[in-house]
Amino acid sequence: MAFSSQITRAVYIGRKILLPMHEVSVVADLMAAVKKELEKYDAVSVKAVILTVGKLTNLGTEQMEFAYEIMSKDSILEGSMLMIEEEDIKVACGKCGYEGPVNYMGTDEYAHYQIPVLSCPKCGSAVTVTAGKTCCVRSIEIEEAD
Ligand SMILES: [Zn+2]
Repeated sequence: MAFSSQITRAVYIGRKILLPMHEVSVVADLMAAVKKELEKYDAVSVKAVILTVGKLTNLGTEQMEFAYEIMSKDSILEGSMLMIEEEDIKVACGKCGYEGPVNYMGTDEYAHYQIPVLSCPKCGSAVTVTAGKTCCVRSIEIEEAD
């Protein structure tokens, strides 16, 4: 009996993959922002999207890369790289005037809504966060049509 040739078959499973919600909504927003920006250019493809993510946002970079890969399929962003640069936390103290980095121990990656308490490393007072709490699209690398 001859071997039949191997058939590669796509099997429909119909199970939704649970994505981490928070990162997904951020990635959706960032993709919308990038696509809007792309309207200004005659882009044929996108090479990379560079993102700055503050350490206080508690966004998981791996989850974001994963969400990006899935959500960019069948769009101009498919195949592009999401490059994430982490932004350190900086604070300003209203009491002693300290401005700069603060020690942040981080939180559990699933505890998105946990609010860390930051205090001034010099005098221990409550501080205002001046950097590290935002997520922003820094730049995009595109290939333009001739
Ligand atoms: Zn202080």
